[in-house]
Amino acid sequence: MDTQMLIGSTFESGTETEEQILNPRTGETIRQLPEASESQINRAVDSAEAAFDTWSRTTPADRSSYLLKIADRIEAEADAFAALEALNCGKPINAVKEDEIPAIVDCYRFFAGAVRCVPGVAAGEYMEDHTSMIRRDPIGIIASIAPWNYPLMMMAWKLAPAIGGGNTVVFKPSEQTPLSALKMAHILAEVLPEGVVNIVLGRGQTVGSTLINHPKVDMISITGDIATGRKVLEAAAKSVKRTHLELGGKAPVIVFDDADINAVVEGLKAFGYYNAGQDCTAACRIYAGPKVYEKLVADLTSAVSDIKYGLEDDTQNEIGPLISQRQQDRVASFVQRAAEQKHIEITTGGGAPDGGGFFYKPTVVAGATQQDEIVRREVFGPVVSVTRFSEVEEAVNWANDSDYGLASSIWTKDVSRAMATAARLKYGCTWINTHFMLVNEMPHGGLKQSGYGKDMSSYALEDYTAVRHVMIAH
Ligand code: NAD
Repeated sequence: MDTQMLIGSTFESGTETEEQILNPRTGETIRQLPEASESQINRAVDSAEAAFDTWSRTTPADRSSYLLKIADRIEAEADAFAALEALNCGKPINAVKEDEIPAIVDCYRFFAGAVRCVPGVAAGEYMEDHTSMIRRDPIGIIASIAPWNYPLMMMAWKLAPAIGGGNTVVFKPSEQTPLSALKMAHILAEVLPEGVVNIVLGRGQTVGSTLINHPKVDMISITGDIATGRKVLEAAAKSVKRTHLELGGKAPVIVFDDADINAVVEGLKAFGYYNAGQDCTAACRIYAGPKVYEKLVADLTSAVSDIKYGLEDDTQNEIGPLISQRQQDRVASFVQRAAEQKHIEITTGGGAPDGGGFFYKPTVVAGATQQDEIVRREVFGPVVSVTRFSEVEEAVNWANDSDYGLASSIWTKDVSRAMATAARLKYGCTWINTHFMLVNEMPHGGLKQSGYGKDMSSYALEDYTAVRHVMIAH
C-alpha cells in the first residue's frame, strides 16, 4: 500500500499528527498516516510554482498525451484502485469497478480531447488599425481539495481540467480517504514532469487551511460542505484568488400523477441510496402528486427494504456503510428527530443494523412536510423523504425553496409539463424521468449555496483557464 505524499519528484511521509485511516465496514484502522507540515506544504507549492513555467507552455497535444497515459494507467490498474476505494470507503466492489473506474478513465480521456479543441471567438478588427484576439491561458497554481465520498473520481474531476488547462496543482485528498490518491501519486510521478501535481495529506483545519491561505496559490478548487466553501471564500478574499466551489445538495424529485411509478421506484431505489446516499445529487427529497403518493410510499418502502448491504459476499452488496462513526451518528440523529414528529412515519429502516461498521439501514421517511428538517437539510445518508403535494405550483415552489441548487429531477409522461417544469427549477441540473446520470461531456455544478464551479465538460476547462485579450496595433 502506498502511503507517502508526492512533493516535486520525491515521496515522503508527513511529519505531523497521525490520522487514523479506517475501514468503514468494520471500523478498524487500516493505517495511521501523518499529515504534512507547513514546510512540506510550502515545498509542494514551490514545486508547483517551479513546474508552471514549462508546463503552462506545453502544447495542448502534449498535455493531451499525458492525460491519455494517466487514463491508460488507471485502466490497467483498475482492480487495484477498485480494491482501495472499497477498502477505504466501504463501497461495494462492483460499484467501483463497473460505475466509477470507467467514468474516471473516461474523464481523463474526455479532457485529453477537449484541451485540443477549446472554442473561441474569431480574431478581428474592433478598432480601426488594431487586431484583437482572445486567449485562454492557464491560471497558475491550483490548490485542489477533495471530499471523501468519491475520492478517485473527485481527483479526476479536479486534476484533468486543471492540468489539461496548463495549470500545476497541489492536491489534498480528504483526510479520511487518502489511499487511492496515494496510489495515483506514483502514476502521476511516472507520467508527468516533476511538480505538475503534488499531493499532500492532512486535515482541513490544518493542511487544507494552510494551502488555501498560501500567498502563492492562484486558485482554490474545493468539493465539500457549504461551511468549508465559506472558509475558502474568506481565504480567497485576502489575495483575491479564484475559486471553484462544488458544495452540497438536497435534490428535489417531483413525481407527477402520470409518472410511471415502477420506473420512479426503481430509480429512487438506485439513485436515492447509491453510495449509501453520500452523494450530493442523491434523489433524497421526493414530492409526490396526490394520486400517486400512497402507492409510491408503499412500493418504495417495499423496494428499499430489499436493498442489499453488509453481506459477506461483497459482489452482492448494493450499498456500503457510511464513511465514519460521526456520519452514522449524524444520519441517525436526523432520522430520530424526524421520527419524533407526529405527522412523519418511518416506513422502513430507521436505525443502524446489528454488527460492526458504520452501516445505516436504508430508510424511507413518509409524510414529511416542507418545514421539516429532514426535507430542508442535507442528510448525506441512505434516507429519502416523501412529501405529498397538491398542485404543480406547490411542487415547483417547494422544490426551489432550498439553500441548495445542485440537482433535481421530474418524473412525468407529459413532455410539455416536463419541459415547462424543468425551465422553472433553480438547479444546476434537472433530469427528466431519470436521476443521477452523469456524462463527462456535460457540466456538473450548482447554483445558490451549492456553489458555482463546473466539473466535467468544456465548462470545467473554462473554469480552469483565464480569458485574456491581446491587441495588436497595425
Ligand atoms: P468537508 O467540507 O468537510 O471536506 C471536504 C474537503 O475539504 C476535505 O478534504 C477537508 O479536509 C477539506 N477542508 C475542510 N475544512 C477545510 C478548511 N478549513 N480549509 C481547507 N480545507 C478544508 O466535506 P466532506 O465531509 O469531505 O464531504 C461531504 C460534503 O461534500 C457534502 O456536503 C457533500 O454534499 C459535498 N460534496 C459535493 C459535491 C459536489 O459536486 N457538489 C460532490 C461530493 C461531495
